Amino acid sequence: MKDDLKLFNELVDLLLEEEQKHPVATPIATNKLYQTLDLSLNDHPILDEDFKKTLFEIVKSTPKTASTSFFNQLFGGRMNKATLGDLLAVMLNNSMYTYKVAGPQVGIEKAVLHKICDMIGYGEESDGTFTSGGSMSNYMAMVMARDKYDPSSKVEGVSKKMIVYTSEVSHYSIQKNTSLIGIGRNQVRFIKTNDHGEMIPEDLELQIQQDLAKGFHPFFVNATAGTTVLGAFDSVEPISKICKAHNLWLHLDGAYCGGVIFSKRYKHLVKGIELTDSFSINAHKMLGAPLTCSIIVTQNKKHLYQSFSNEADYLYQTADDDFNLGKTSLQCGRRNDALKIWTLWKSVGSKGLENIVDHQFYLADVARNYIKQHPDYTLHSYDDSISVCFNYKGISAKTLCTELYLNSEVLVSFGSFRDVEFVRMVTINTSLKEQDIMNFFKRIEIFVDNKILIAKH
Ligand SMILES: *Cc1c(COP(=O)(O)O)cnc(C)c1O
Repeated sequence: MKDDLKLFNELVDLLLEEEQKHPVATPIATNKLYQTLDLSLNDHPILDEDFKKTLFEIVKSTPKTASTSFFNQLFGGRMNKATLGDLLAVMLNNSMYTYKVAGPQVGIEKAVLHKICDMIGYGEESDGTFTSGGSMSNYMAMVMARDKYDPSSKVEGVSKKMIVYTSEVSHYSIQKNTSLIGIGRNQVRFIKTNDHGEMIPEDLELQIQQDLAKGFHPFFVNATAGTTVLGAFDSVEPISKICKAHNLWLHLDGAYCGGVIFSKRYKHLVKGIELTDSFSINAHKMLGAPLTCSIIVTQNKKHLYQSFSNEADYLYQTADDDFNLGKTSLQCGRRNDALKIWTLWKSVGSKGLENIVDHQFYLADVARNYIKQHPDYTLHSYDDSISVCFNYKGISAKTLCTELYLNSEVLVSFGSFRDVEFVRMVTINTSLKEQDIMNFFKRIEIFVDNKILIAKH
């Protein structure tokens, strides 16, 4: 192991150096991938030297998500203490299903979950679990809601027309999950949004009324804290009132921006969160933990048990189910995703997490101010969002993003809202400084100046 750790350190040194020197790796065309790198698997062992050389090449040409040029996705950067925790979790290699096998790691997971429940004002009966991603958190919420609404669906299958409500700009997993839980994709009602991309509660009420009139069964509403493109926040309070009136489960998908719960300045964006039935957050997004670190919590842990526990004599051989986390998980074997957020949280405190979140909003303000002051740009997103959406000189966002990628300038993606396509830069990497944001815009400007070709598109 010692030798491999030495090699590991060499690889990490190379990575850190590359992040500085070549913040955007040279992309390899897919049809050249297998000629460029030796990725083949063979019958015989490879020489240590060649093995090392291959790994070096792979590190060099892998996209650098922790560099100052990565604005492409809803994660980025590297929180050192969280990375440390994740590396340690790999070495410890526990599985989180039982206390017997995971010991104190179970306590660590529970500490994170309970602290989050406390922070958002969930009561004594609340609890949660770690999932393999935000899509799976949303899935678990929907399963719990289904089983609460119709306990027989768990044993007999779904026989009613059960209806789900979510905004037209919510994450695609909501619709996908309806097919996985057996109610079908046609049973999703996409609720209209206002100009800022926030769900319109009146339209929600209207849709529910229409479904009730047809004898259908509304049971689940998904609200979003940070929509995937615009970073918009649905208003929890008015939506919650409607859910209470019709007895519907309200889930708050905070995969992207649920981290605002740590911020005094921004937690008003999820005002009323204590009224929801479940809430999910991806600590690998706003909190900067390595992928994946996804959490779902619910007001009443009985729903977790009702939907996900199964007796298994071969697994649960010690008592105290509260510490046998497999009973409330979708998975059986499960990697330890809790340690990385715990090491980060423990080292910087809740105050430190607050600073992380606030800094992202600050960087977004910097970016928006720059755009507003420069007439070659048009802004397409709003305050209180870490998604900064814009167009530059009327150039097609798709063309611009693709050219920037192919020329190893910056990684940034595009999105659209109401038929307008724009560049979406995300200020989620907390290690960045104001200057990095300025450099981002300068890079684009110089690139476009030198590539008059693009402007024709
Ligand atoms: C990222 C995201 C998800 C999905 O999370 P994964 O971990 O990628 O599965 C769900 N909802 C929203 C709003 C997101 O931004």
